[in-house]
Amino acid sequence: MVRRISIFGATGSIGQSTLDLIRRDRAHFRVVALTGGQNIARLAADAREFGAEIAVTADPALLPDLRAALSGSGIEAAAGEAAITEAAARPAEWFMSAIVGIAGLAPGLAALEQGTTLALANKESLVAAGPLLMETARRHGARILPVDSEHSAIFQALAGEEAAAVERVTITASGGAFRDWPLERLAHATPEEAATHPNWSMGQRITIDSASMFNKALEIIETHEYFGFSPDQIEVLVHPQSLVHALVTFRDGATMAHLGAPDMRHAIGHALYWPERRELPVVRLDLAAAGQLDFAAPDPARYPALALAREVMEMGGLAGAAFNGAKEHALTAFIERRIGFTQMAEVVAAVLEAIGRAGSHRAGAFTLANVAAMDQMARQEAERIINRITG
Ligand code: NAD
Ligand code: MG
Repeated sequence: MVRRISIFGATGSIGQSTLDLIRRDRAHFRVVALTGGQNIARLAADAREFGAEIAVTADPALLPDLRAALSGSGIEAAAGEAAITEAAARPAEWFMSAIVGIAGLAPGLAALEQGTTLALANKESLVAAGPLLMETARRHGARILPVDSEHSAIFQALAGEEAAAVERVTITASGGAFRDWPLERLAHATPEEAATHPNWSMGQRITIDSASMFNKALEIIETHEYFGFSPDQIEVLVHPQSLVHALVTFRDGATMAHLGAPDMRHAIGHALYWPERRELPVVRLDLAAAGQLDFAAPDPARYPALALAREVMEMGGLAGAAFNGAKEHALTAFIERRIGFTQMAEVVAAVLEAIGRAGSHRAGAFTLANVAAMDQMARQEAERIINRITG
């Protein structure tokens, strides 16, 4: 059987790993749409290699470049936010949602409306609009398969189990680039230093989010939204080797752990072939070589983002959209060297406080328009706070 698939964020780290798996199993897939951002050469080369029907860049100014790069191929070219979402409405059986940031939400929803399968790497859409995404999937009979390594791990540990029998789940975190730095040095950490990861090779933004543990904060909320576990059932452990991805503890006291090399092609491949298990090109676990596995509770002073995730779940409503919007804005400000590393959490905390005080997260239902409005409000509030603290 040949399956029609589309990849959103094809030029990124997850998108390229997805194409790597497709390349090894070409006969079974027909690529419909590939989307990217600035990297037109990569997008066009992949569209040609896989014989895509359409290639879309997020940047309208780059449409002439994309057209030129695809000329003579017969592949359609398009550009802009709306064109990406339109591409998600082209019939396909499997979609990879691997755009980074809230821009992944609208195409994810459009894909779900087809009632097929959405492999979800774009955790931001679950954090900002979990109920909207899950309800859209339910209404259209679509399936969301988690691609974040921790969530794929939980999903696998839960196979054949009853969710009601789960006592708690534990997701692990490497601790990021600054796990062993003295606390007082963190304020002076640069974007380059934060963008190096001890174990995983990922996009720049998620790598910096790993150093601050905003990534783990997003993942706590992702666990809550996707699996429905209550906040007090979800815990985080620092695990420097990144070999254990998640653990599920059942009410009889048994804990099921998921282990594997830190290679996203496992979680992607699992979602690609689910419910079957196929051979995947990932390094097999060698525990004797690893020698030891270490675990520690995260230090709340080093990782203030984790407490913010708890606050967001307590606030409920559209607080997730505010949290994600503020975090994305603060992260960009850090990358642009407008604020320091530790100021990211300060900005996000201040935004949550302002939104909470005004009660704006409680206003309005879970619609795409309301999520987008809350996202914008949080970014504006973050910008106001950044201007204040940077004088
Ligand atoms: P990346 O930066 O390497 O790639 C991002 C992709 O999104 C690129 O194709 C880029 O062109 C596209 N993009 C960026 N901004 C866009 C916009 N405004 N509109 C449309 N497209 C846009 O990121 P990544 O590391 O591959 O991560 C992608 C998603 O997967 C993120 O949500 C991330 O949190 C999640 N994720 C990544 C990993 C990983 O190992 N890289 C693991 C778990 C989850
Ligand atoms: Mg993860």
